[in-house]
Amino acid sequence: MKKFLLGTNWKMNKTLAEATDYTLAVSEIITKYPQFEFFIIPPHTHLWKLKELLDLNKSTLKLGAQNMHYEDAGQFTGEISPVMLAEIGLDLVELGHCERRQYFNETDETVNLKALAALKHQLLPLICIGEKMSDRNYGISREMLAKQLKVALKDISADQIGTFWIAYEPIWAIGVNGIPAETPYVNEIHDFLRSVLLSLYGPAGNDVPLLYGGSVNINNASEYAQLDNVDGLFIGRSAWEPDLFEALMASVSNTLR
Ligand code: PEP
Repeated sequence: MKKFLLGTNWKMNKTLAEATDYTLAVSEIITKYPQFEFFIIPPHTHLWKLKELLDLNKSTLKLGAQNMHYEDAGQFTGEISPVMLAEIGLDLVELGHCERRQYFNETDETVNLKALAALKHQLLPLICIGEKMSDRNYGISREMLAKQLKVALKDISADQIGTFWIAYEPIWAIGVNGIPAETPYVNEIHDFLRSVLLSLYGPAGNDVPLLYGGSVNINNASEYAQLDNVDGLFIGRSAWEPDLFEALMASVSNTLR
């Protein structure tokens, strides 16, 4: 049986000392929850150290980066390449988070180039898509999401299924000012995304993990987790402290039992 995915993007948070303490604590906690697959996505500067720490502790916690360039090397000041991330031995790389799209001009096309580059270097791309509240109000969420998904997955074939994940994160649900999405809406959109994946890949589209993210918290996590086409939860603030993350694990675990 596929493991339910639970993971967190730290965004631009935590010093190295805080990152180390958190990672040690969470590595220990997750041994109680073998039914889940866990991942953390810290800032780039912490990745080498955390990878060493996880290896030393033989932890099953997967480690990812928050972004990368699609070229292997070149004149791109301030960027990090897939070769560099692969050299660390990372498991995954998050691509297309709405903050990257909003503040750093990430587009569907660059997300696609990055996804292809990640796959080339055996990094699992965690591709984020999400619509704006204005899209929802205009009744065009499905069109916007289908476009984001189809462009991001261009030239990724059915035999690569299993080596990439998709996270649906409605922009209006993310962060401190986010409004948690209603469970029926998440259900409707995840069913729709599954139908797009089936249209792209045939029955193999059922095997693409679809995560939900956006103000997931202790009160709503288990409801989202029960939805048919939700294969994991992608969490921000509510997983940034080990005890909060553990409470969320416990609640989802009771639901999926
Ligand atoms: C995110 O930024 O991807 C996210 C899900 O954050 P939060 O859970 O804090 O809304």
